[in-house]
Amino acid sequence: MNRKKLFIPGPTHVLDETLQAMAQYPMGHRSQAYKDLHLKVVSGIQKVLFTEQTILLSTSSATGLMEATVRNLVHKRAANFTCGAFSERWAEITALCGFQQDTFSVEWGQANKPGEVREALESGRYDVVTIVHNETSTGVTNPMAEIAGVVKEFPEVLLCVDSVSGMAGLPFYFDEWGVDVVFASVQKAWALPPGFSVMAISDKALARADQTPTAQKGFYFDLSRMARSGAKGQTPITPSIPHLFGLESQLERMASETMEARFQRHRDMAKRTRAWGSGRFGLFAEEGYASDTVTCFSNPNETDLSRMIQLADGEGFIVSGGYGNLKGRTFRIGHMGEHTLDGLEELLSVLDGILAEMEGADLK
Ligand SMILES: *Cc1c(COP(=O)(O)O)cnc(C)c1O
Repeated sequence: MNRKKLFIPGPTHVLDETLQAMAQYPMGHRSQAYKDLHLKVVSGIQKVLFTEQTILLSTSSATGLMEATVRNLVHKRAANFTCGAFSERWAEITALCGFQQDTFSVEWGQANKPGEVREALESGRYDVVTIVHNETSTGVTNPMAEIAGVVKEFPEVLLCVDSVSGMAGLPFYFDEWGVDVVFASVQKAWALPPGFSVMAISDKALARADQTPTAQKGFYFDLSRMARSGAKGQTPITPSIPHLFGLESQLERMASETMEARFQRHRDMAKRTRAWGSGRFGLFAEEGYASDTVTCFSNPNETDLSRMIQLADGEGFIVSGGYGNLKGRTFRIGHMGEHTLDGLEELLSVLDGILAEMEGADLK
């Protein structure tokens, strides 16, 4: 099959081995076989997140879990920290759902900083913080360990993290950092086809959700209901069973690679990508906060990015233009999930060829 290789920050490249693992005859979702699979996947995800807390499996994309988080956990007021398109989406969802909220934003390309989080929480107005671990639109990784350290000083505040493009590619120490909620969809660093997401949730956050009126939570995304089913190795609804088979297969791969080697592979690919672009492009992320799963380049020399992206597509490699406001001004290379340094070299040499050709054409 003529397949174009995905170097966009989601969906990412999926191995044939993974696709085959997913293509299995279904089982009843109340059967013992399903229960065994569910519990096996949960225990694998706990290892990926270095946690002993509850894992929930959701047949939805991660945006559903953004909404679930605020509907289950905001009793007073949310502090939505934003630094790009996805964190802004969470603030928008919070407001659309009718909750009291304030948005604390930094310029796109900058990271959210622990000092700003402390300043906001000292007002005593908030009981939930939402923040993105890795802002896919700008290629910025927020300093999660430090921010979690600050939120811990405010015991009434729950720290809720979107790690959609971080989880399984960047270290995330859920218990050690004292995070209350983290979630991701599976089409990013998990390297599965889209349509499913996973969450870790602390006992403290679950206790809050248990106190939330059901009229606020609804049915599909009631986290207490999901946790009660989860304890029995089930989900309240019929889950996407192919995704559980896919997760089982990916978790085996991760266990044999080891998480430390996986994180190092992502650091190596990011370092190589940044070195490749330096000189020709700029790094959009603030210094010291560039992501190890996605690189966002700025375009100081006004290269025709849409032409470059189109020519790369013709060679079978898909890279991504700027997201939202950044269209035309930036482009992004996703280097997460199944990608390797060798595969990345192939992409970069194709891009080198395209850029040389474009420069040559300009000189004529
Ligand atoms: C991709 C992405 C999302 C949205 O995920 P969906 O699976 O499309 O709902 C949210 N946050 C971040 C940081 C993302 O990269």
